[in-house]
Amino acid sequence: MTNEKQQEIQEAVQVRRNFAIISHPDAGKTTLTEKLLLYGGAIHQAGAVKARRDQRKVTSDWMEMEKQRGISITSTVLQFKYQGFQINLLDTPGHQDFSEDTYRTLAAADNAVMLIDAAKGLETQTKKLFEVCRLRKLPIFTFINKMDRPGRDPLELLDEIEQELGLKPYVVNWPIGTGDSFKGVYNRSQKVINLFKRSAHGSQQAEVKNLEIESEELKSSIEPEIYSEFRDSLEILEELGNDFDLEKIHSGGMTPVFFGSAMTNFGVQPFLEAFLKYALKPDGRNSSIGIVDPTYPEFSGFIFKLQANMDPKHRDRVAFIRVCTGKFQKDMIVNHARTGKTIRLSRPQKLFAQDRSSVEEAFGGDVIGLNNPGMFAIGDTIYSGQKLEYEGIPCFSPEFFSYLKNLNPSKFKQFQKGIHELKEEGAIQIMHSTDGFKRDPILAAVGRLQFEVVQFRILSEYGVDTTLESIPFEVARWVKDGWKALEKIDRVFNAITVKDSWDRPVLLFKNKWALQQVITDHPELKLDSVAPVG
Ligand code: GDP
Repeated sequence: MTNEKQQEIQEAVQVRRNFAIISHPDAGKTTLTEKLLLYGGAIHQAGAVKARRDQRKVTSDWMEMEKQRGISITSTVLQFKYQGFQINLLDTPGHQDFSEDTYRTLAAADNAVMLIDAAKGLETQTKKLFEVCRLRKLPIFTFINKMDRPGRDPLELLDEIEQELGLKPYVVNWPIGTGDSFKGVYNRSQKVINLFKRSAHGSQQAEVKNLEIESEELKSSIEPEIYSEFRDSLEILEELGNDFDLEKIHSGGMTPVFFGSAMTNFGVQPFLEAFLKYALKPDGRNSSIGIVDPTYPEFSGFIFKLQANMDPKHRDRVAFIRVCTGKFQKDMIVNHARTGKTIRLSRPQKLFAQDRSSVEEAFGGDVIGLNNPGMFAIGDTIYSGQKLEYEGIPCFSPEFFSYLKNLNPSKFKQFQKGIHELKEEGAIQIMHSTDGFKRDPILAAVGRLQFEVVQFRILSEYGVDTTLESIPFEVARWVKDGWKALEKIDRVFNAITVKDSWDRPVLLFKNKWALQQVITDHPELKLDSVAPVG
């Protein structure tokens, strides 16, 4: 390794910042993404991301199912530059396409932005995604959006974050009024007010006026009641709020909180700048040879997502790799840790918006897409130099269960093969009944769309027609000490026992209440909502 190359790697890691947005549908993720890209100069007009999303619905070379449903099953990686930083935004599929991929994307992220609708506060999808961030101790930056519309009391929103998530908020900017009377935010570290000016649908970058908190111009532009309410709440915040603690932010115990309005482009730029100041750069990762730093000279990375049939004409599959160390170069030859094979990485792609563009090099913190010759599985490590393997990506608690029935008994073999391969690929979790008469595999998914994807692919790729028979359960828990722990208990009421692909016992519950009942009845039973890959 030449000094020059080592220096190149170090410099590249230094300026890389990678994050994913966690939010509930409609909180404004598309809008915020678009505004961030606008500042990054990656697009020149707001509306472009959305326009592309809509336009894609009519382009012909997308998976047939995507066309039929008009939704995206795929997620993309957006890369943009800002003030010398190289920023990677990992898109987390939401809406109907919420799936295990959404969770897995967080395994590839170094930071998360929690986007909250000011009128709604914490919503279910956000909370679920937060749990995954908590497992990984990801730094979380909170953006409370839609301040231009009537929203909940900001103090109450902070309280909710602290109480429900156990996350200490640190307020970076504090709002003055909400909804129609929203006047702007007070930046606590700079001690200035950013005055809010409504612009035409935020299609241009917003003009911001900065004023001192005691300035006459400010007082004359705000109704006295709103001004005094703001001063009162600020006083409460200064007295009772948390002190800034960067270490706590980096270990996921404290979240910097920003108020703004993505649509009107208010507060997005200060948010981006503060994010870049405080976000974690790509950090060391645990592996079979200990923690490896991104500046480790050899290339390594792991697969966090596989995507099939983006282009049915080519029947190709793309494996998304989070680069962890060293330098990736087109055409390089790497080792595949699980099989011991060597592979030439000849058709690397970086996905920008919906276009695929070829990537020549990448560093720790970047994501690349590789054409998958079928040997990759979720969690696989590829590396050059000394052998190393990263920890696998866990199975996340499914919430939808259904028997999958083969309608063509003569195609038993193809059916089995399809199920096996789709399971290996991580498209779905497969479980089995412990009742000997029920032989159909149970599909277990995080989002309903995963069922449709499996049915579609089993038909189109393996030629087998199937039907689903839904199982009315919605919570799954792995039994920590396996079958032995269950044997000690005579019978678990309010749950059924199934086994996962590694023959480990999993309890299925009708709802959270039934789960709670079992926990109360059997405090000795240790249950897990995630299970490591077998
Ligand atoms: P996503 O589902 O999280 O991607 O949400 P979108 O970005 O598609 O936004 C959902 C809706 O909320 C759209 O109608 C947006 O125009 C609107 N929206 C997003 N941000 C704001 C905001 O700051 N203020 C207001 N008033 N509306 C917003």
